[in-house]
Amino acid sequence: MLPTRFSIASAQCGKPHHSFSTIVSSDRDQFERLLSDVRRFLSQQQEVYGDLLFPGTQPAHSRSDAGDGGNVTKKGDGTSEEELFPDIPASRAPGSVRTEFPKEDWVGTEDLEALNHMICTCLKCSLGQTRTKFVFGVGNPQADLVLVGEAPGADEDAQGEPFVGRAGQLLNKILEAIRFRREDVYICNILKCRPPNNRDPLPEEVNLCEPYLWKQLELIKPKLILCLGRIAAQSLLKTTESLSSLRGKVHDYRGIKLMVTYHPAALLRNPNWKRPAWEDVQKVRKLYDELTTNR
Ligand code: SF4
Repeated sequence: MLPTRFSIASAQCGKPHHSFSTIVSSDRDQFERLLSDVRRFLSQQQEVYGDLLFPGTQPAHSRSDAGDGGNVTKKGDGTSEEELFPDIPASRAPGSVRTEFPKEDWVGTEDLEALNHMICTCLKCSLGQTRTKFVFGVGNPQADLVLVGEAPGADEDAQGEPFVGRAGQLLNKILEAIRFRREDVYICNILKCRPPNNRDPLPEEVNLCEPYLWKQLELIKPKLILCLGRIAAQSLLKTTESLSSLRGKVHDYRGIKLMVTYHPAALLRNPNWKRPAWEDVQKVRKLYDELTTNR
């Protein structure tokens, strides 16, 4: 539409054709820059406020760091979750969220490495077909603090390790700032395989993969979980509450205390959040010290 509008304006102004092209090109560049700024702003706001920012919409299905503009599906257009995955019960329906372990061999294992070995060929959801590497988790198998993100990204998928790349480096610095080394804690994600284009995990994928996280936690027996990012927090706590309302509180996840802060990738996009994130991790350290002092 823009070229047509500017074409009329140009004709009225009687500008020669090469000037018109320059004007159109320059205005379009400005328009695209403005659009990009608006998109970035909305993405940052949604990271914090989640669905409260867009009341009446479904939870976002595209990680805001992916920048692919969302992937929300609607009923009746052939792309709803139920229509795409007719054999899998919709986990959003009340009572359909999995709370018990499936009846499978790996559930009985008592060793973290053995668990990794038993589940690393998983194909329960479609992400098993598209992953490069299964991303189980790394760190101290007896850690008192476990960090949980939502899913592997491109770097993690390539290397088979969670939180590598720029976000991982920032996470290491955050840990150092509260006197942890990366190897002191355990780091993993809810999903063990990368969603294509870094989209958000689908509820069905969380429902299928989350029991692996439960088993990891059962074996590690941490005192505290730090949940990284809104999507991970909402997925674990089964809530649509905003990140801002989830931060600063101590939640319960299967009997383990859980706190929430920003995803390091979000901090890279918006350095203004580093201050509140710093406050979050100070509280995490304080609670960790209280929980581990009288062991
Ligand atoms: S994401 Fe989880 S459930 Fe899906 S294939 Fe990977 S390990 Fe299996």
